[in-house]
Parts: sequence; C-alpha cells; structure tokens
Amino acid sequence: MSHLWKSDGDKRTIAFGYIPDDIILKYLTDMRDLINKAIINAYSIAKSNNNELPSPITLRKSLKKYYDNNIDYAKHHINPACRTAVAILRSYKKNNDGKLKVIKAKRLAMRIDSELTKIENNKLRITIRPNEYEYITIITKNKKYNEYSKYKISEVLLTDNKVCITFVVGSLNKPLIDNNIIGFDLNFKSVDYTIIKNNEIVETNTIDTSDIAKTQRDYARKRTKIQKHIKNTGKRNRKLKEAKHRQRNIIKDKLQKLTTEIVNNNDDKTFVFEDLTNIKKGGKKNKNNKKKNNKNNTINNKSNNNKNNPNKSKRFRTDINRWPYRLFQRFIDYKSDNKTLYIDPEGTSSECPVCGDKLKHPIWKISKCINCGLTYDRNRLSSLSISIRGLNLCGTPFTVSGSSSWHSMKNDYMYHTDHVIIENVNDCKKEMHNNA
Ligand SMILES: [Zn+2]
Repeated sequence: MSHLWKSDGDKRTIAFGYIPDDIILKYLTDMRDLINKAIINAYSIAKSNNNELPSPITLRKSLKKYYDNNIDYAKHHINPACRTAVAILRSYKKNNDGKLKVIKAKRLAMRIDSELTKIENNKLRITIRPNEYEYITIITKNKKYNEYSKYKISEVLLTDNKVCITFVVGSLNKPLIDNNIIGFDLNFKSVDYTIIKNNEIVETNTIDTSDIAKTQRDYARKRTKIQKHIKNTGKRNRKLKEAKHRQRNIIKDKLQKLTTEIVNNNDDKTFVFEDLTNIKKGGKKNKNNKKKNNKNNTINNKSNNNKNNPNKSKRFRTDINRWPYRLFQRFIDYKSDNKTLYIDPEGTSSECPVCGDKLKHPIWKISKCINCGLTYDRNRLSSLSISIRGLNLCGTPFTVSGSSSWHSMKNDYMYHTDHVIIENVNDCKKEMHNNA
C-alpha cells in the first residue's frame, strides 16, 4: 500500500529527465538495498504470521535498529522504503493466488516523503542527511508547472534518470488546511471525529445521530406495512412514493441542520472522510479485479472483500440505504470553505493507527489491540485512522507515537460505555429482513 489515499483527481504529477550525480546514485543504490532488506523482513514476518504481510509501521519497527546502526541517511527515508517493500510483496501476493516469495528490487527508484523535499528557486531540494542537501534543477515543459508548484508536494519519485514530483492541488480552489484536520467516521447511530491540529491530537468526540437512524427505520417499517396491506397496485405505489418523498425530506432537513452546525463549529479545518464511492458495489478492489476476470467479477469481488475486511464491507452493504452517509459528506463538502479530502477506507477499522497491528473486534463497538494491550472505542479509533490518512494525503505524515498529545488524549479513545451508543443488534437484523 504505497498510497493510503484515493483522491487521484486532487494530485498532479510533473516528470522530467535528469542526470544524477554520484551522491544521488549512491543514495538510490543504498535505498534499493534497504528496500531489499525490508522485503526479507516483511517476508519472514508474514511467514510467522499466517502469510499476513505486516503493515509498513510494523515493518519499520522490525527494521529500525538495523537502520539506525547501519544506514547513514536522514531517519525519514526508512518510511517510504518500508511502504515500497510492503507494496511490492502485496502486489506479488495478489497476482499469485496469495503466495509469497522474496523478490529482489532491481530498479533504482525511491519515493521520498514530502517533508524531505522542498522547491527553492526552481530547484528541487532533497534532504539526504540532516542539513545536507542535494539540488536537482527542475526542467519541465509542463505548462501547468507554475500553477502546480504553488501547492504542497505530496511525494517525489526519484529514479536514475527521471524525477516525478507530485503536488496536492486543491479542488474548486478551496484551500487545503493541512495543519488542522477533522476526520469523520460515519456510523449508524453516531458520527465520531478526531481533530489533529499542528501535529497534536486536540479532540475526539461522538455526535449522536440516532434520531436520523430512527427516522430511516420508522419509514422502512412504514413502507413494509404499505407493501403488505394495500392490495390495490396503483394506490400502493402512490402511497409508497409519498412515504419515500416524506422520508427524504425529513432526512435532508435533519442533515442540513446537523452539517451546518458541524461546519460552523469547524470553519478553520479541512474535513476528511472515507471515500465510499466504490463501497456499495463490493469494495475498492473492484477496479483491479475487473480487468483480470470479467466473468466472475461479482462473485470474486464479494469473496475478496469479505476476506479483506469483513466488518467494514458488511457494514456498508447493509447500512448504506439506511443512514445517508454520502449525503452527509456532500453537504459538508459543499458548505465548508475549505477543501474536503476523501481517503481510501480499506483497513480503517482493522489496523491499529497507534502501532499498526491488527485489531480485533470481540463486539462491534470495541477495537482490541493485543500489541497496545488496550481496548479502544472502535468508532473513535477509526476517526483517528481517517485523520491520519488525511494528513498523509496532505503530505504531512503523522505518527501517533511521535505526538506528545497521545498520552493525554489516550483515555478519550478507550472503550467506555458512557460515550458509546449501544446498537440493538436484533433491531438491525429485523430491519435487514424488512428491507430485503
Ligand atoms: Zn495498537
């Protein structure tokens, strides 16, 4: 997973040829060796863990000592090396029916985190070591370069003959507030958020939306009754249409009020949501699978999706018609004066944002991390993951352990019954029946 985000439309890349000097060539060679070392580590971690590849964060942990003792580059270079190693193995695994083997990276190519790069006087500055920089003159025929270069760099890809600089460009000319982010996790009866400001987690909270859930449920029931009891087709259809119309208006009205309030309280922030556009049809894996086997598309997607993230896919498949997630996102996006970001939702509730380990869910509302040894509030922890991915998209990576705020905020992410709205499971099951 070299990219944790999906908003391709918001990024623009310019590429140009160059001739690397000896320092850069040595850097690229050393980084290739590091990636290969990381691949071996990732492989052996997977072998001792049911063929499950580690997350880049876990991999980094396993490599950190080696890196600190043997590699003489700025410490940030370890991050993209780990991301690349995991991405290489992940794509091999995907294309080889889940099998894994140690692959050797041959190409001289390295992704560089935005914080190690800067544009100065038409030159790309790369931090090789603290206070030691390499400069590459930017020669580009790209007409839009002047426009793009006003934006923040999200990533630089350096090979032995080419430079690619990716910028995060704003949509609708709304500004991107990259140091003040509010990430939302949308659930049936609540929306949960995390605010990260200037590299500190400053707030997490749960907004009760059970009245919206209740309206959706009441109307589903009403429609079932109409279906059952009105025998005359014409009359039945008219009544159904009326009910649908009323339901839509009530929900829209409630959402308008809720989103206006949220946007007013957070007019200095960039909102971050999960990108739900592909979820309904079986998850984000769609695109790749479609190309490969068109015939068995639907079946494969379903099984794939369940394997990858059973809880998330199930949740969206069953709930999407009942709580209008997309409408909520659209209202906020429209009302906010700042840019809204959409992140890739895969794994937001199955990967611990604190340590990168796998999360377990003994009950729906709980995320248990064996590695952290803690029992988290599932929705709030997801909102933390979403905020972190939003920051990644801005090009300002955030690590929970690296932030002094985590210690004081931790308690707000623990599972407490008082800030959790318990969902009535039987009610939901009945509901699904009614809708079916
Ligand atoms: Zn953890």
